[in-house]
Amino acid sequence: MALTGLEIFKLLPKTNCGACGVAYLPGLCHGLAAGKTDLSKCPYISDEARAKLVEASTPPSPGNHRGGASALKNRRGNRDVPP
Ligand code: SF4
Repeated sequence: MALTGLEIFKLLPKTNCGACGVAYLPGLCHGLAAGKTDLSKCPYISDEARAKLVEASTPPSPGNHRGGASALKNRRGNRDVPP
C-alpha cells in the first residue's frame, strides 16, 4: 500500500540537514509519495525505515493477486529480490 507524504515524513530522520538537496523536507516526502524522487537522496535514513518505504513503494506483480514483493520473494525462493 502506498504511503502518504506525512507517513513518509514520520519515517525520515527529520534533521533538515539538506543533503537530499531539498530546502523544505516535506517537499522530499511528497516527491517520494508521488514517485518523483527516490530514497537515494537521503544518506541518513535508517535501514528499517528504508525497508518500510521500499516495501510500500513496490507495486504488485502483474497477474499475481497474492501480493507484491512478498509473493515474489516466496515464489523465487530467495530474499534478495530487487525492487
Ligand atoms: S538528507 Fe535525509 S535527513 Fe537530511 S534533510 Fe534530507 S531527508 Fe532529512
